Amino acid sequence: MPDEAELTGAGGTPSPAATDIGVEKIGDRKLRPSTMMMGHGFDPALSEGALKPPIFLTSTFVFPNAAAGKRHFEGVTGKRPGGADGLVYSRFNGPNQEILEDRLGIWEEAEDALAFSSGMSAIATLFLAMTKPGDTIVHSGPLYAATETLIGRILGKFGVKWLDFPAGATREEIDAVLTEARTGHVALIYLESPANPTNALVDIEAVAASRDAIFADADEKPPIAIDNTFLGPLWQQPLRHGADIVVYSLTKYAGGHSDLVAGGVLGSKAHINTIRSMRNTIGTICDPHTAWMLLRSLETLELRMSRAGENAVKVCAFLRDHPKVERVGYLGFLPDTPGMERQADIYRRHCTGAGSTFSLIVKGGEAEAFRFLDALRIAKLAVSLGGTETLASHPAAMTHLSVPEERKAALGITDNLVRISIGVEDADDLIADFDQALNAI
Ligand SMILES: *Cc1c(COP(=O)(O)O)cnc(C)c1O
Repeated sequence: MPDEAELTGAGGTPSPAATDIGVEKIGDRKLRPSTMMMGHGFDPALSEGALKPPIFLTSTFVFPNAAAGKRHFEGVTGKRPGGADGLVYSRFNGPNQEILEDRLGIWEEAEDALAFSSGMSAIATLFLAMTKPGDTIVHSGPLYAATETLIGRILGKFGVKWLDFPAGATREEIDAVLTEARTGHVALIYLESPANPTNALVDIEAVAASRDAIFADADEKPPIAIDNTFLGPLWQQPLRHGADIVVYSLTKYAGGHSDLVAGGVLGSKAHINTIRSMRNTIGTICDPHTAWMLLRSLETLELRMSRAGENAVKVCAFLRDHPKVERVGYLGFLPDTPGMERQADIYRRHCTGAGSTFSLIVKGGEAEAFRFLDALRIAKLAVSLGGTETLASHPAAMTHLSVPEERKAALGITDNLVRISIGVEDADDLIADFDQALNAI
């Protein structure tokens, strides 16, 4: 290991770069997240001058002396205020994950963040940290299918109850559900917006106002958590609209290359510390290699999401007018869709972009939808979303095959509905592909 003088230049004086790992401002100018993704939270001088963080493959960390080891465990166990100090064991944290967490939080100006091994392990750890038998989770519906399973079938086994309201619910409807739920102990309000797979938006501001009103005289108000996988962090930032905790499947837009599975949770230090204790206990943190991959992904997050969003605008404008198309369920069309005024109002208040995931309803039924899917040449037939490549899938026959018919009908998951996630390809190439595939119907 070279000594400090070698790392920092002559005389051991730290170079400016070595002290700039926390640079957040230049003069009065607050740096944008896209700039901070290149260096924030990593000091090359501590890693042989490496421009990029090495991948720290180690299960444990060496204490400089016995007193430091004691000090660490005093922090972990609460015997000393201030919490844990430094790294000790890789189930708790590691350098790559810590840099990732520092950078993740920046996008939504969250006080703190945690990285997880999947979106579902993030959600499961949140629920385990926040609930106990007899508690109620109030949630918007529909939710990502595995999240619904987790609440209904798994937490249900441990005596956790739930109540839900539909994603597009009004303040009055939310008030009614929260009033009913308050007869018990509401541990958590859990939202997903846009909802998967309907793209229905939840009025986060109305949920926060309702929670504050219904629990005005309560000792503690239940926190509001929201799954922001579809529009975050670029096009929707729920902490600004009254949410307390934001959850991500980083597998999607944040990872963005369809080559990893990971999750994230963002929020205040107090909430994050509660969730961190559970993660430390059960070990749902992501591994160092995945964290490193995500650091690379975050450097291009704004570029990728912007391009995918621009592509979706062009592709959806083309699809909407195609003779083989019945309808396009794209958030960007809400403002001029008759009957969608309430959703359009939520969209205007909460979202800064329409994303690149939408549903295409072709004329006909399953046979027509399948012919379209089988004729695609650029777009790949696969579940998931938010990658650099365009993907298409058939929810009724794939992800939602086991959903009962009445529920599918209520959610509008029809046999002629195709789910599309637009990537960063050339927009006109994508249009050519969709055109020839539609004409093959
Ligand atoms: C994919 C997804 C999840 C689950 O994330 P994994 O990384 O697959 O565990 C949760 N919520 C939403 C909205 C998703 O799209």
